[in-house]
Amino acid sequence: MIKINYKILIVLAIVFWTVACTPLKKEVKQIKPNIILILADDAGYADFGFMGSDEIPTPHLDNLAKDGIIFTDAHVSATVCSPSRAGLLTGRYQQQFGHECNIPPHNLGMDITEVTIGDVMKSAGYKTAVFGKWHLGESAPFHPNKRGFDEFWGFLEGHRSYFYGSDNDIPGNPHEIQHNGKHVKFDGYLTDELGNRTIEFITKNRKNPFFIFLSFNAVHTPMQARKDVLDKFKDHPRKELAAMTWSMDEAVGKVVARLKAEGLYKNTLIFFLSDNGGAANNQSSCLPLKGWKGNKFEGGHRVPYLVVWPEKLEGGKRYDELTSALDIFATSMAAAGITETSGKPLDGVNLIPHLTGDNSSAPHNQLFWRKEGMAATRENNWKLIRLDNYGYRLYNLEDDLGETLDHSIENKEQFNKMVQSLEHWESNLTEPWWREAKDWNQVTFEIHKALMENREPNYKSPEEMKSYLNQ
Ligand code: CA
Repeated sequence: MIKINYKILIVLAIVFWTVACTPLKKEVKQIKPNIILILADDAGYADFGFMGSDEIPTPHLDNLAKDGIIFTDAHVSATVCSPSRAGLLTGRYQQQFGHECNIPPHNLGMDITEVTIGDVMKSAGYKTAVFGKWHLGESAPFHPNKRGFDEFWGFLEGHRSYFYGSDNDIPGNPHEIQHNGKHVKFDGYLTDELGNRTIEFITKNRKNPFFIFLSFNAVHTPMQARKDVLDKFKDHPRKELAAMTWSMDEAVGKVVARLKAEGLYKNTLIFFLSDNGGAANNQSSCLPLKGWKGNKFEGGHRVPYLVVWPEKLEGGKRYDELTSALDIFATSMAAAGITETSGKPLDGVNLIPHLTGDNSSAPHNQLFWRKEGMAATRENNWKLIRLDNYGYRLYNLEDDLGETLDHSIENKEQFNKMVQSLEHWESNLTEPWWREAKDWNQVTFEIHKALMENREPNYKSPEEMKSYLNQ
């Protein structure tokens, strides 16, 4: 006769009951997608595996790219940090509200009458957060918590140390790390911490749709990396950049892993891009493009760009049409089912029908750039650059991606058409509310002039200009 051990039966019953009742983190069924906008800072067009680099390894982003769409002709609306972010967060050319130049310290900031993507997503019931660099104003009216974001863990200025404990970390300093206005300390490396704060927020809000702006300061200067990662790249010709990019890639990997663990990945729309081209001072590469951060050649504003939404967009593709970071606002709204904003008309478009194939035309035939005396426009593959007090160049990117051959004389009709469309666009802009520093304007004038003449600039920074002029 079989002897029944009731104790074992009871234990088995408890185990069975516990397993049956433990909620498995299945894919969360929620109609509105989560949205994560991941921004790198000063990263070069070429410096990611998914953009073709065999020098700067980015395994997590490369994996993410397999589920998404890689854009090859995507542009930010400015070639420096603050105006690019103003365009990104409003979906509008920032020169319409005076945000043409990098923001100077103290009491200036992004026009408070502009509606941000945070405002719109929050009104639609999203939990909203910024983790990282803000650079849209340091004083109270411009604080992220007042611009549509429930949570802010980051810093208000344009750059800072990647470690805690420098002069930055004094309460009230705009470079300090703060959480919703309160000074915070952090351990370890800032890029890792931004990833950690993001995954905490994801888990906390797994049952609400959320909009996260993960705004890395990597790979902006100072060139600081974790020692163990630097050791990994000790023989690399660009070891600081490689190590900083590696940590950013790891943080993105951590975010994606958490989305998967929470069952949120498939219905999350992820954008990844850089806020402007690679800088002259951070070892980055914009090849095969000409130019870099701060100038109107393609290397200044054409950026690495990735869009992923596994549930709605077929991945493993490339998209070669002209697109803009201004599209992120309209695309996010459409994804969330929001049909209108209380703000002014958007300059970006909803990319989704273009990516699903429902709309086979290009999202944009024209894009425009201007920062004080330097302006440019794209019309399909044509590119016009204007340098005030110097002149114009017209390039055809179809067979001259490196912008070397001027067509302004032989293609007079195209040249005139683009000069006029640039001037027409400018007629709707306001005067810049603040100006770039005078010495930087002199430097960028020399850089543009040199690149238009297909030669090396005599100087690339105010310091270099000083020693060149004193020779
Ligand atoms: Ca930047």
